[in-house]
Formats: sequence, structure tokens, C-alpha cells
Amino acid sequence: MNEDFKNVIKQSKWTCYTYPYSCIIFETNIVTKNFFNNCELLSFISDNNYYTLYTDGSKSELFVRSAVYDPQCKFGQSFLLDPKCSVFTAEVYAALEALKALKRIAHINSFNNFLILTDSLSMVQSLTNLRFDFKKNYILYNIKKLLFSYAKKGIQVSFMWIPSHRGITGNEIVDKIARDGTNMLDVSSIVKVPLTDCYQSIDNQVNSLWVEFWKQDQEQKGKWYGTVQEKLPVAPWYNKLKMASRDFVTTINRLRFGHSTVPAHLARLGIVESSYCTFCNNSVGDIEHFIFTCECFSFDRLILVSEISDIVQNQVTVQDPSRRLSDMLKNRSYYVPLYKFIKNTVGKL
Ligand SMILES: [Zn+2]
Repeated sequence: MNEDFKNVIKQSKWTCYTYPYSCIIFETNIVTKNFFNNCELLSFISDNNYYTLYTDGSKSELFVRSAVYDPQCKFGQSFLLDPKCSVFTAEVYAALEALKALKRIAHINSFNNFLILTDSLSMVQSLTNLRFDFKKNYILYNIKKLLFSYAKKGIQVSFMWIPSHRGITGNEIVDKIARDGTNMLDVSSIVKVPLTDCYQSIDNQVNSLWVEFWKQDQEQKGKWYGTVQEKLPVAPWYNKLKMASRDFVTTINRLRFGHSTVPAHLARLGIVESSYCTFCNNSVGDIEHFIFTCECFSFDRLILVSEISDIVQNQVTVQDPSRRLSDMLKNRSYYVPLYKFIKNTVGKL
């Protein structure tokens, strides 16, 4: 696990405190005009005399890549990132590479009015709202730093969001460059993965460790509970019940865990002498006896069976109301009739 995360950046300080205040509060220029066709966009670019760069990020099961395309030179380049990087990181890294490239262009061609076009709305929004936030992607702060240094040199850089898959040529070309890996530069070991990009992967790894432990544990001591709750629950069974009383939750929990105050259980713990049913005195008084066989509760059992039958009829997937308590407890819609039966018969578990 540690080996997997060796390329992950974990700052000791909030990222925002590692950059000058003036650079963080520097406003990013965002062009908010929306163009839905190529011609309109191109005439806007030419009217404003922009030097444009298109950027894109792409993530698949096989790779994560950023790409920059310069339509003036008709040249594009892609950058291979660590596979743990999110598509958002790929988008912001592409913008960072575009900014690095425009320094060269500004120097050689004496341009000072640039427009970076991206189809990542979340990146444009993040650049607008970036203030003091330790969770923000560190690359965004690097972008801010470069923008600030360019502004001091009189180089004007603006960002603009463009919709993807709307026939905007530059966007389609940069998308293809990212997917095909055109002129690819491998920066996967240089560009650090933001910690927030690993949350999902950490979640998955912790979850699989937990599932493994769950399986092993059930082979030893949690056998009964394992038959009721076969899969690892992500939330308690009563989580979504708004009106559930404490007694209802406690009673059902006792059924689910198999720990209750029935004579069979108390006798096993040495609390009472006899494990026999205190109502009929004919059989071992375990919970299955009370629910399925005790002759003292025949009438209540009829009500229970009838209520469960109604539930079964109303369910889309008809489940056999098996005469096994563990099977009944797997279906949460049986909990209310079971609780009523317990209350009307033995009273407390
Ligand atoms: Zn009995």
C-alpha cells in the first residue's frame, strides 16, 4: 500500500500558506462568453487578437493524460501522468503546461494576449474561487503563481470554458491528442498526485481489507450474524428509519445478533438453571421455539404469518417466507411483524 502512494503529495502546511498572499488573491481573468459553434468562436478570437491554446485532460483505465494544442503552430503535445491522478488533475496540469508554453511563445513572438480554452468547467470555477483552502489541488496554486508572474511582466492570460463535443475544432484536436498520446512526454514520476485524488483508492483498499476481515471473522465467532448479514453493511440497518423506537431497534438487534434473554441463552451463560421454555415447559426455550413452535403462541403466530404473507404478496420479488429465523431477518420488511409478535408474546428479549 505504501509503495502505491509514494508519488502522492502530502503537504505539512496548507498549500495556500506556501504561496505569496498577493499571488493567491490575484484575480484570474475569465472570459464568460459562450460559443456553441466554431465560426463564432474563431471570429471572437480574431477580433480580440488572442493567441489561443486549447487544453484537455483524459482518464481511462489504462492511462491519465493531459494535452495542449497550439492552433497557430498546429502543434500539440500530451503528458502522461500517474494513473492515480483524477481527470480534474489532468485538466489543471494541462493548463499549467499551456502556461509554461506561452512563456516561450510570448518571448519569441512578442505576443502578450493569450486565451486558454478548456472544456473543464470545474477547473474554470476553481480558478475563480481559489482562496485559502487546504483541500484545493496544489497545481491550481502553481497556475496562480505563474499567472501572477506573467501579469507583472505585462502578459495577459485569460481562461475560457468551451463546451465539448460541439464541433469546436481546437477542442476536438486537443481531445484526440490526449486520447492518442501524441508527442507524449512521460511526467508520471515528476508530477505529484494530489492526496485528494487518492481518497477513492484509499476507500476501496480499506473496504476490501474490511470485507476480508468480515469473511474470516464469520468463520470463527460471528457465524449467526453472518447468516443474517451476509454482506458487509455500509450503514446500520435502522439508519433510514425515521420513526423507529429505541425498543424496536433493540429488539431487532437482539434477534440479529442472537443475544437475548430467552431461557436457552441465559442457561448457556449460567444465569438460569433450566433452558426450557417458561411458557409451555415442553421444549428448549430458544428464540426459534417462540417464533415457530411454542404452542402458547399459536394465535399470535397466525397473525404473524398473515402479516408476512401480505408483505410477500406486495413485493415485486417474491421471497419464500422460510421457516428459518436467519432467512426472515435478511428481509427488513419482516421486522415490524416480528417485533409485534415478540411484544405480544414473550414481551421482551
Ligand atoms: Zn414454549
